[in-house]
Amino acid sequence: MLMAVAVTVSVALMINKKREPLHLSFAALCVAIAFHRGGLFFNLFYPHAAWSLIERLGLLAIPTLTIYFSRDLFPGQTLIKKRDIRTTALLSTGLAALLFTPLRNLAYIGSGIYIYADALLLLCYFSLIVHAKQKTAGAEKKRLVYLIIGCTAAIATYSIQPLFNLVVAGTLYFILIMIIHPHLTELHDLMTRASVTLIVSLFATVLFYLVIGFFGPGPAPPFLLVFMISFIIMIAVGPFQVVLKRLLTRINPEIKDVFTSPFDLDEKLEREKALLLEKMAPVFAHEIRNPLGSIKGAAQLLRSEAENEEQKNLLDVIAQEVNRLNRVVSQFLDYARPYSSELRPRQINAVVEKAMALIEANRLSAGIDIQWELHPHLPLVPMDQEQIHQVILNIAINAIEAMPEGGTLTVRTSRIESDTRDAVGITIRDQGAGMRRDTLKQIFTPFFTTKERGVGLGLAVCERIIRGHGGKIRVKSIPGKGTIFYIRLETVR
Ligand code: ADP
Ligand code: MG
Repeated sequence: MLMAVAVTVSVALMINKKREPLHLSFAALCVAIAFHRGGLFFNLFYPHAAWSLIERLGLLAIPTLTIYFSRDLFPGQTLIKKRDIRTTALLSTGLAALLFTPLRNLAYIGSGIYIYADALLLLCYFSLIVHAKQKTAGAEKKRLVYLIIGCTAAIATYSIQPLFNLVVAGTLYFILIMIIHPHLTELHDLMTRASVTLIVSLFATVLFYLVIGFFGPGPAPPFLLVFMISFIIMIAVGPFQVVLKRLLTRINPEIKDVFTSPFDLDEKLEREKALLLEKMAPVFAHEIRNPLGSIKGAAQLLRSEAENEEQKNLLDVIAQEVNRLNRVVSQFLDYARPYSSELRPRQINAVVEKAMALIEANRLSAGIDIQWELHPHLPLVPMDQEQIHQVILNIAINAIEAMPEGGTLTVRTSRIESDTRDAVGITIRDQGAGMRRDTLKQIFTPFFTTKERGVGLGLAVCERIIRGHGGKIRVKSIPGKGTIFYIRLETVR
């Protein structure tokens, strides 16, 4: 049973589109568990030395993979360190090598492996506890606490096999939803999901008993077994659907809509969030802008009557900060505005030229050499001109801000030819500070900024607009060398 759960969990992770290192390390751990449990199971029914070898190799891999995954999941743990991964990997490999020698038949090698694995797993458990103690209250601490409860239950039921399996399976499943939905920070969402799965499995079990009770011959199978099977079916349905969908859409692309993605709750959540933002933003902006207007007006009035330079300077600060707040609110409105854009076929070069002219007119580009490479024969692209103008402006301003010492800003448009449909590319390239990888990962996140006076909405807006156009936006950056933004917009079919 545990093997089936472990396999399901790892398959669910492998087929998920967001294939992150964390997912892969957990999938690897589940594979090891599946090997260990599978070996045990098959050895029971078809005794053979190979099964016991598989079982032990799986078991030996578990501690290293647990440490690896646990470091990935909660970096900054003090009790287990990065080098422990290497040490345990070496130890496990050493022990695994023993299994290929005649020594493997010695009884204490078998129990030694168990003691070794259990001891390291206990170490991980204590490390989690120590880590949880250091954390201040919050979503992450709650996750840790739930995880610790799961592990404690597993340790407590260690000698009662069926219950132990159930607890471990539940904990694996909990970790699965915890890592595929990292942004469901509200933990009760997570727990609701888990409890829905549990309740439905329970319901299926009861249903099964009713049917068996009325119609079935002979005694019913044990409750725990039926429950585990229902649970596995429940958690396997999602990944199974995805696999089926991928296979069938290969044959007939139209079939895609028949399936609902098991991960679509995320999209729904995103949509609801966007809707809330759209409704909230204008009200919020209005409530802030009005008093800001009054503050600025009052400051200007006072300035005209100010008696000395110091007072004037202070009042200037007020006016400047009001302007800044106004900018923040405008950007926020831009971000929250609904993006049901009306797309009309337009010439991209004209839009690029207009945006760059605006930058030059506002003298934003002092000390910057602007290079143009506009492709003369571009097909028309369906777009909302205003929005694309905004995108180019935001990216170009960032590029200029990244080159305080001056440099070259290159703007290119190009034609991307393909069999199905031509596309148009826009490239904006600077020779500025560039970005490190961890920055690069976050630049499209709303309110992410590294600038002292930044708002962090510019690129989030760009990403939304381009997505609304069915296009793509990509970034390449080398720290110290510069950054390139690529935009691809599809042409009319
Ligand atoms: P803001 O400009 O208000 O900070 P953006 O969403 O426009 O917000 O950009 C987010 C972050 O992305 C910036 O703070 C900066 O760290 C990084 N960034 C964007 N464009 C560039 C660039 N051309 N060169 C270096 N860093 C950039
Ligand atoms: Mg910006």
